[in-house]
Amino acid sequence: MQIILNPDNMQTLSLGWRREGRQIAFVPTMGALHGGHMSLISHAKSHPSFKAGRDKIVASIFVNPLQFGAGEDLTRYPRPIEADKAKCDAAGVDCLFLPTPDTLYPPHFQTTVHLSRVTQGLCGDSRPGHFDGVSTVVLKLFNIVQPHWACFGEKDFQQLAVIRRMVADLAIPVEIIPCPIVRDPDGLAMSSRNVYLSADSRQQALALPRALQEAQAQIRAGIIDLATIKPAIETHLLSQPDITIDYIEFVDRHTLTPLSVYQSGTTQLLIAIKIGRDKPVRLIDNVAL
Ligand code: AMP
Repeated sequence: MQIILNPDNMQTLSLGWRREGRQIAFVPTMGALHGGHMSLISHAKSHPSFKAGRDKIVASIFVNPLQFGAGEDLTRYPRPIEADKAKCDAAGVDCLFLPTPDTLYPPHFQTTVHLSRVTQGLCGDSRPGHFDGVSTVVLKLFNIVQPHWACFGEKDFQQLAVIRRMVADLAIPVEIIPCPIVRDPDGLAMSSRNVYLSADSRQQALALPRALQEAQAQIRAGIIDLATIKPAIETHLLSQPDITIDYIEFVDRHTLTPLSVYQSGTTQLLIAIKIGRDKPVRLIDNVAL
């Protein structure tokens, strides 16, 4: 596995691969790799036009300062780089791109990608500026890595919608591959931030996937007025002493506009909570209803 730190070297390598007729699959991450990230690497390889031996898998690890707000966990975000390198190598990644903030954002850097509507509400409200940071870094990474396709997890559902919208709006020639949420056996969605959870908080956090299941059960029971499902979910989450609710939203999964009545094939439930007392950990999860 090649490891590349410098963006110019990465772009030169990718352009060379393209000239040789190779396709490039890309998995951008912030590291502290877990089963969710590894599933994206598998999806990258199982693309119908991926040809082993010819095509290349590029993963990146970059804890992007632009997408963290003041008071968020930028400095304490886990960075187990040696373990991450070993996982990428074992998973058959051809090239691991590890840029630094100074090389991606040199002092004269002044461009921001901003999407207006899809970034409103949900995490966009709780984390002002977050999606500007995400769209800006993803577009820059796409221009450096030059991928034919790139994999993103449905775990970050609004992020996926933002990236898809940006790619469509700006005619970016990259196919976006959505990948399902990978969960631990107890149901908690895998996240690099789960390492912050104490044993007790982790137990309480299971209320989050269970709340999603509870909503699914209510839909199966024939309830279609989403306003009547919401209080049951709230009660379920707030039965845990250290959980506070950031949002519970039923949205159209394509546009992220809020829904008040269940629509089969369209309704997605998205939840964000904070858990813990001293340094609360923010967790997000979602499900198709
Ligand atoms: P992150 O390192 O948290 O920025 O995530 C990098 C990519 O992995 C994003 O596309 C995430 O949506 C995806 N991802 C993170 N956790 C999971 C998970 N549990 N299941 C599937 N994809 C995930």
